[in-house]
Formats: sequence, C-alpha cells, structure tokens
Amino acid sequence: MSDIANKVVLITGASSGIGEATARHLAGRGAHVVLGARRADRLETIAAEIRCAGGSAIYRPLDVTDPADMTAFVDFAIEAHGHIDVLVNNAGLMPLSPLAALKVDEWNRMIDVNIKGVLSGIAATLPRMKAQGHGHFVNVSSVAGHRVMPTSAVYSATKFAVMALSEGLRVENDDIRVTVISPGATESELAHTITDADTAAMIDRYRQIAIPADAIARAIGFAIEQPGNVDVNEIIVRPTAQP
Ligand code: NDP
Repeated sequence: MSDIANKVVLITGASSGIGEATARHLAGRGAHVVLGARRADRLETIAAEIRCAGGSAIYRPLDVTDPADMTAFVDFAIEAHGHIDVLVNNAGLMPLSPLAALKVDEWNRMIDVNIKGVLSGIAATLPRMKAQGHGHFVNVSSVAGHRVMPTSAVYSATKFAVMALSEGLRVENDDIRVTVISPGATESELAHTITDADTAAMIDRYRQIAIPADAIARAIGFAIEQPGNVDVNEIIVRPTAQP
C-alpha cells in the first residue's frame, strides 16, 4: 500500500494548476485532501469530481494572506480528520516585471502571498505537528528560487525566501519532514497575473515548452510516500528543453 493512503494532506492554492493537479493525484492514491483557495466555486467542482472518482476531498475557502483564515482552514481539516499529516504550501502569484517599472503594489502582493502566506501556513500547523510528533511541509518554490532572471527579481526574492524558510524548518525540527518543490515552466494560470505587456509576451513564448502540472504533482507524491525517516529535501522538475 502506498504511504500516501489515508494521509491528511492540506493544499493551499488548490483551485488551479499545480495545487489542483496535486489534489487529484494524491486523492487518487488514497490521501484525504483538504483544498483551500479563494475561488470556492472551483474548489467545490474539483472536490466533487475527486469524490465522484472515489476519492476523499473537502474544501474551505482560504486567503493565505489572512492568518486567522489559515488557522480556520487548519481547524476545519482537524475537525474533519482529527489530525494533519502534510501541508502543501503552494499558493502563489507571479506578476513579473522589471524593477524599473516600479510595480510596487505587485511587489507587495507577491510578498504577502508567496512569503507571508507560507509563514501563515507554518504558524497554523507547526504547533499541531510538534504536538503530534510528526508532520511534513511541502513548500513550493521555483527554479526562480535558484537564480534571478530579468523581470524576476521580486518573484525570485520570494522564492529564495521559501528556500530559506524551509531550511530553517528543517534544521530546527528533527521530527518534521520538509520538502521544497522547485518547478520550471509548468502549465497553469500563473502567468495570468502579469500586467507588464513586454514581460507577458516574453513569458508566452517561454511557456510553449511548459510541462503538465501533473508532473509536479507526481514529484510531490514521491516526497510524501517515502518512509517517515526519509526526508526528501528538494526536487527540481523542469521541462527538458528549459535552459
Ligand atoms: P496558478 O495560478 O494556476 O495557481 C495559483 C494558486 O494560488 C491558485 O489556486 C490561486 O487560487 C492560489 N492563490 C493565489 N492567491 C491566493 C491567496 N491569497 N490565498 C489562497 N490562495 C491563493 O499557478 P501554479 O499552479 O503554477 O502556481 C502554484 C505554485 O507553483 C506557485 O507558488 C508558483 O509560484 C509555483 N511555481 C509555478 C511555476 C509554473 O511555471 N507554473 C514554476 C515555478 C513555481 P485563488 O485565485 O482561487 O485564490
């Protein structure tokens, strides 16, 4: 039996792209998935489809920038299942632009969702995982968390932060597993938040080589299915053709 079966897995940003694919993949392998994102209608459809296929899925609307909402999301999962095994901190935004464009509001939104959202997830679940004596964070960074490209300065900064937070979690907790997933170009709605026209055109070309979101979901499944004393710390998954 898969070591995914019966695990309670909370997924932020589960209404599209990588989060949705992860929910479908893990539920297909027997996990109890708990979906969070702002678009409740999407979550309702995805959870219903998972249950129709024989899986276990519940959802609650979630804005990761609101720590109280994150706590309520975790409480909802615990009320339903009694404990939590994995939190996939996946929700993210990528409104790329050159720094000189001074899109300060977009910088702040990325910081709020991509960094503070992950911190909210940690704050809402770490005490519970410590009390249980086990737990697993799967934090979604990016290849942009390894290098900075023109237009990616702030986005990369948030994804470098995800790497740092994950390493901090790992070295401070010998009873908690920590996995960073660093995708390359992947099919999703991520580029929809780009408002800078030149950057959007550049990313459109770049995304021709994108791989399906299920490729990232399978990597997340690999990390989760390992025995409890095996901690997969990072997986980079990118298109073969990505430079
Ligand atoms: P999508 O845009 O398809 O998914 C992003 C998800 O985040 C959506 O479900 C969205 O749901 C959710 N989200 C955004 N803001 C919030 C919020 N405030 N509270 C709760 N949920 C929120 O893109 P991806 O699937 O690609 O993105 C998933 C992760 O993967 C991100 O962290 C991204 O940075 C990372 N990544 C993606 C890559 C790619 O090429 N696709 C490459 C590298 C990393 P809703 O709007 O309903 O709230």
